[in-house]
Amino acid sequence: MRGKKVIVIGAGFGGLSAAALLARDGFDVLVLEKNEQPGGRARVWKKDGFVFDMGPSWYLMPDVFDRFFKIFNRKTDDYYKLLRLNPNYRVFFGGPKTVDVPADRPGIDALFDSLEQDGSTKLAKYLDVAKYQYDIAMNEFMYREYKTIFDFFNWTIITKGPQLKIFESFDKFAGRYFSSDEIRKILEYTVVFLGGSPDNTPGLYSIMSHVDFDLGVWYPCGGLGMLVQGFTRLAREHGVRFEFNTPVRKINVTNGHAAGVMTDKGDLRADIVLVNADYHHAETELLDAAFSNYPERYWQKKKMGPSAFLIYLGLRRKVPHLLHHNLYLDDSWHEHFHSIFVEPAWPDNPSYYVCCPSKTDGSVAPAGSENIFILVPVAPGIEDADTIREKYYDKTISHLEKLINYNLRDHIVVRRTFAHNDFKEAYNAYKGTALGMSHTLLQTAVFRPSHQSKKVKNLFYTGSYNHPGIGVPMVIISSQIVSDQIRKIYG
Ligand SMILES: Cc1cc2nc3c(=O)[nH]c(=O)nc-3n(C[C@H](O)[C@H](O)[C@H](O)COP(=O)(O)OP(=O)(O)OC[C@H]3O[C@@H](n4cnc5c(N)ncnc54)[C@H](O)[C@@H]3O)c2cc1C
Repeated sequence: MRGKKVIVIGAGFGGLSAAALLARDGFDVLVLEKNEQPGGRARVWKKDGFVFDMGPSWYLMPDVFDRFFKIFNRKTDDYYKLLRLNPNYRVFFGGPKTVDVPADRPGIDALFDSLEQDGSTKLAKYLDVAKYQYDIAMNEFMYREYKTIFDFFNWTIITKGPQLKIFESFDKFAGRYFSSDEIRKILEYTVVFLGGSPDNTPGLYSIMSHVDFDLGVWYPCGGLGMLVQGFTRLAREHGVRFEFNTPVRKINVTNGHAAGVMTDKGDLRADIVLVNADYHHAETELLDAAFSNYPERYWQKKKMGPSAFLIYLGLRRKVPHLLHHNLYLDDSWHEHFHSIFVEPAWPDNPSYYVCCPSKTDGSVAPAGSENIFILVPVAPGIEDADTIREKYYDKTISHLEKLINYNLRDHIVVRRTFAHNDFKEAYNAYKGTALGMSHTLLQTAVFRPSHQSKKVKNLFYTGSYNHPGIGVPMVIISSQIVSDQIRKIYG
């Protein structure tokens, strides 16, 4: 494999991690990225002294990052400094009630006892199952490729399937332990990370509660952008080359082989092409239909994860009543999920997330200022227009002002919104999805789009559309799976 040329399309975490792994294996790797910087959805926007992480802001599953860097005999610490947050986050409920979810177990127990009788005892039982599921998922499911349905319905699934809760919804599963609406919301908000709703996401994903309460919520100092820098540096140290502002226009296929790619600067030859760009974009715009794994009707039937209405704010004042991570979980939370997955529309009373990293990190905002990022999950594929955004901006800011009893508007010095049209324009995202394909049962493991093309032998895919799915840790695992596959074929 030494010297074989690999072209990676896209410098998201999927492209960065796969490029580093393949270069370490001796491949000659070139990454082509349409945007001016690496990171994909995790790009950084800098304005007037404010440093905004444009996408991910939660560093979860630290074990996955440790395992990745270990392949290179490195540690995360060689590339970025991590801080464990405490409390993990603040939750505002529909009424005046607010709770802080602590980082330590005794604190979490006390919180659960205050929300439901025997809350901590029930939590202990629930988390035992979540940990059991997490261990099985990490040891047996996450890091492997599923080529056929028989790979998925293997002995482990048959014998352990019932305990893994793959056949019941997260909502039902959590409901067997807790009746408190507030506790259920605290546990179930995590499904938004997976691009799903508590009703359409399998109970298996209660592993997210183990991630949240046991493994903790972390922050790379300087923001998630430091992670992007770390991954890019790691790739470069292993010889990966990058070309930014270089959108790929076509994957050239000759005699069933990807011969290379077409860019505005000309054609580039490759022995292997690895796509990190959104799967739908690659299949429908970069490949001729004859070479796609899945026809358009396949995509139309798929449940896509939400898009997001994002607001980036720079404020020349410190804002009270916010922590680093804040969740507003409205009473009409089920209606909100309904408006995302069942009857797509802009939600009337949305739940939303507010990130204020300047509470932890002075480097992301000028002194005395606050860096705020608001995320409202919205249905993919619905109309996005300036008038709608303006209305929604007003609605969201007014709501937040009331929630924290503070006038934000008078102190805003930087402001930007981002929604469907931007996701399409910036990342070629299908229906403007922020996250990719949801994690419903029929979009899990073998049911996610394949890592390898069925029609073009040397064409591969990595990223949030593939198994194991959405989120930075998952995407890194996806790249470990596909690079193992490539090594086996070409090594
Ligand atoms: C608002 C938001 C918040 C999130 N929060 C979290 C979080 O807190 N924690 C977490 O773990 N995850 C979070 N996620 C999810 C996480 O960011 C993604 O799952 C992950 O970053 C996706 O990585 P990827 O490599 O699959 O795709 P991408 O990051 O989209 O990378 C694909 C790259 O391909 C490029 N590309 C597309 N078309 C072409 C082309 N034709 N030619 C060249 N390049 C092309 C794109 O520009 C992009 O850089 C969040 C996502 C969003 C949007």
